[in-house]
Amino acid sequence: MVTAIVGANWGDEGKGKITDMLGEKSDIIVRFQGGSNAGHTIINNYGKFALHLLPSGVFYDHTTSIIGNGVALNIPYLIQEINSLVERGVPKPKILVSNRAQILMPYHIKFDEYEEERLGKKSFGSTKSGIAPFYSDKYAKIGFQVSELFADEETLREKIHRVAEQKNVILVHLYKKDPINEEELFQTLMEYRDMVEPYACDTAAFLQNAIREGKNILLEGQLGTLKDPDFGIYPMVTSSSTLAAYGAIGAGIPPYEIKKIVTVVKAYSSAVGAGEFVSEIFGDEADELRRRGGDGGEFGATTGRPRRMGWFDAVASRYGCKMQGATDVAFTVLDVLGYLDEIPVCVGYEIDGKVTKEFPTTIELAKAKPVYEVLPGWKQDIRGIKTYEELPENCRKYIEFIEKEIGVPITMVSNGPDRHDIIYREGVK
Ligand code: GDP
Repeated sequence: MVTAIVGANWGDEGKGKITDMLGEKSDIIVRFQGGSNAGHTIINNYGKFALHLLPSGVFYDHTTSIIGNGVALNIPYLIQEINSLVERGVPKPKILVSNRAQILMPYHIKFDEYEEERLGKKSFGSTKSGIAPFYSDKYAKIGFQVSELFADEETLREKIHRVAEQKNVILVHLYKKDPINEEELFQTLMEYRDMVEPYACDTAAFLQNAIREGKNILLEGQLGTLKDPDFGIYPMVTSSSTLAAYGAIGAGIPPYEIKKIVTVVKAYSSAVGAGEFVSEIFGDEADELRRRGGDGGEFGATTGRPRRMGWFDAVASRYGCKMQGATDVAFTVLDVLGYLDEIPVCVGYEIDGKVTKEFPTTIELAKAKPVYEVLPGWKQDIRGIKTYEELPENCRKYIEFIEKEIGVPITMVSNGPDRHDIIYREGVK
């Protein structure tokens, strides 16, 4: 059976922890979009890890981890990430890389940096991992697939020349930088070929066989609905689809095989980078939530930059779940809210004097003001609690209020960063 694990919000919902946890009963874990631009933090018996490109299943020796064709593949980064796990005592994971995945080139990272530099204050807050230039090239049909590394030398050199000709116009004239050195790029690609060769194969065929054999497969999403290029807060979005539906494309499996869509929803809001954020809070209130948030504070796993903080946004989260096609919600980082006397929840947006519960397009969103309902806090540390009934009454009320607002059963409640900090709710479906 295929299960997707995706985010309903702006990312950083705790998908890594849920994937790592569900990985215990899975055979294969697949990354299907994005690249090394966002990170998952995972805490398990080997220690604390920030993974960027590898799927969160790499810690088990019974799982195969797949980098699907939809991913922006930074080859040296992948190798470095594998090595850094092995150095810390994790058994060498079994990894397969799609021969149709496209390669994130050194110049994609440079273009990302130069464009953010050019935009100055109007920049997108990119992590400068080269993701936007990478996907632009993929769809402009000037990207390089892993399979092309194994083409004959003349074909590869000819393509490098064709691409460099076009890139150099922008590098030299728009950014005033050095042009691409074609010989150097060819040599780099030869190094990439040697690095990726042990892992490259037809992962779509591998996955379709695995489905036939009844294997358990997890598709691990990166970021969340609100960063999706179509349904997110465009243009402050990422460059590949963050939706479960895209899992079928980015992994190479039939869409009807995705039977379960676990959508991870965070008990409060956080976001990185610029963009509309209706329930954002500021000042001391935000600082305290940031300091107490996640595991050791809400700071980016890739960049270390402080995340923007806000109260739970039911309008955005309901929409986030709907666009994912959520079948189950995993409600995370609830333990963090245990210090609050009262907890505001954004239940509507006021736009031009009218209150709506529908998540609008970005232009309308820019005018939205939050409408809050305030719920009582539970003033208790809930870490270590194992059953739903043991949770304080006000905590259960918070969960049930949100479940009603988002309209999807909350089947898991995460009350700590550890793999075993989870409360399953039976019978809510
Ligand atoms: P992802 O990209 O969706 O995997 O999320 P991140 O890893 O960027 O952010 C989630 C952060 O919250 C990580 O530091 C996790 O260790 C932590 N985390 C996940 N679930 C919980 C939870 O239930 N409680 C607490 N306190 N931290 C959690």
